[in-house]
Amino acid sequence: MGHSYRPGLFVTDFDGTITRQDFFRLVVETLAPGGMETFWRGYLNNRYTHFEALQGIFGSIRADEAQLLELVHKAEPEPHLTKWVERLNAAGWDVVVASAGCGWYIDRILSTTRAILEVHASPGRFVPGNGLLMELPIGSPYFSPTHGIDKAAVVRAGLQRGQTVAYAGDGFSDLPAARLVAEPLRFARSDLSDALSREKLGFTPFESWGSIAEALCAVDPKTINNT
Ligand SMILES: [Mg+2]
Repeated sequence: MGHSYRPGLFVTDFDGTITRQDFFRLVVETLAPGGMETFWRGYLNNRYTHFEALQGIFGSIRADEAQLLELVHKAEPEPHLTKWVERLNAAGWDVVVASAGCGWYIDRILSTTRAILEVHASPGRFVPGNGLLMELPIGSPYFSPTHGIDKAAVVRAGLQRGQTVAYAGDGFSDLPAARLVAEPLRFARSDLSDALSREKLGFTPFESWGSIAEALCAVDPKTINNT
């Protein structure tokens, strides 16, 4: 017997979606001030992939692990995450995190909430003097050479299993995944809402992850079509 799936799958971005603060922005603000200019601008100018930009920023951290762990406590995850994940599960929704970020901080931030979530992200380890070393998740079924995790592939896997799929995100890298879900199940803020608006694709704006969970708990995934 394999994994048993609920009728609905809620695929969610992590940084800026489950958390209010992007971890890499906390890093460049405090521990790697040159990272934004070198690596993030390099990504925007197509000199680096998204993965290489984040890897470069995290690899330029010269603080000790305690200073990096202080940032874990500044990420501001959804305060009622555990309650909402339980309610979503009870309402028929599996909840899966799909992130272009690093599992090192995602796991630590989630452990402050005690929520149990399936996470797809790039692995990493902290090495004093070398920073947070992020590696491509080459063993992942959703591997992407440019983003680490292919978020759209996580959505497609649910669709192929026959699940009703919802998606929430806040960045440009969320666009391919967000395009694949039905408008009533598409949640966006920040850069993702701008990108969807340019494509004239409808979505529900959100302020907090809890408000998305509340909306999804009110719908039975078995009654919604993906198209
Ligand atoms: Mg994000």
